[in-house]
Amino acid sequence: MIRTLTRTMDVIVVALCLAASAGCAVGGAQLDRVDWEKARLVDLTHAFGADTIVWPMEQDFRLIVQHAEDTPGGYYYASNRIEMPEHGGTHIDAPIHFSRGKQTLDQIPIKHTVGGAIRIDVQAQCTRDRDYQVTVRDIEQWEAAHGRIPDHSIVLVDTGFSGFWPNRKEYLGTELRGREGVRTLHFPGVHPDTAAWLVRERQVRAVGIDTASIDYGQSATFGSHVALLSHNVPVFENLADLRGLPETGFDVIALPMKIAGGTGGPLRVIAVLPH
Ligand SMILES: [Zn+2]
Repeated sequence: MIRTLTRTMDVIVVALCLAASAGCAVGGAQLDRVDWEKARLVDLTHAFGADTIVWPMEQDFRLIVQHAEDTPGGYYYASNRIEMPEHGGTHIDAPIHFSRGKQTLDQIPIKHTVGGAIRIDVQAQCTRDRDYQVTVRDIEQWEAAHGRIPDHSIVLVDTGFSGFWPNRKEYLGTELRGREGVRTLHFPGVHPDTAAWLVRERQVRAVGIDTASIDYGQSATFGSHVALLSHNVPVFENLADLRGLPETGFDVIALPMKIAGGTGGPLRVIAVLPH
């Protein structure tokens, strides 16, 4: 009886939602639906290919053609195989990447990678200093101009470095590979104190950046990785094209490949802007 009643209520709510074209208010909460015809979608993903930038210790992305031919059956058939590091190109870091026992890639709730987002523009600072680390002061200045970052936001850090992609020397600060390459990395990131502040004070859902790492290139302790991932806050790295986004008023949908036991993996990530 109760189940039937609940069902009936659901149907009524759905019917009411469909009747309201702009949005749907249930119990006081405004559940606006995206108007996909009018929304502007921005792809924040670099295409994966031979020029995909990977960490100096990693092997390059490889696409191996297996089939690309007309068959005796009369149809054309094409199929490739791919090889890639988890942490190359546009990708997500799962909490276990820097925090023992935490979520693997397949265990990250979808809710943690989808939601309202803001963009923090630190291009000027990073142009002056390619070893720049985003400070709490930068966040406070952003809030003075745009209002308090809503709790549970996805925070995107725009260093402008996506503009260097796929030039390894400009993007990473080095073309060297292996340990020598790691020692000579020079690109901006988020200061560990700022990462901890975002978790503690704003309960951020996820943090993304348009460089190869959320910690700046010269980091030896990866404090921002630890601060975020140990609190189950996923990290998006090597994001593309943040420069076209507004500061506020958009959503991010970031859906990684669901690799069982993965410490990270390739990410297709988009921003959804209302028209
Ligand atoms: Zn990573």
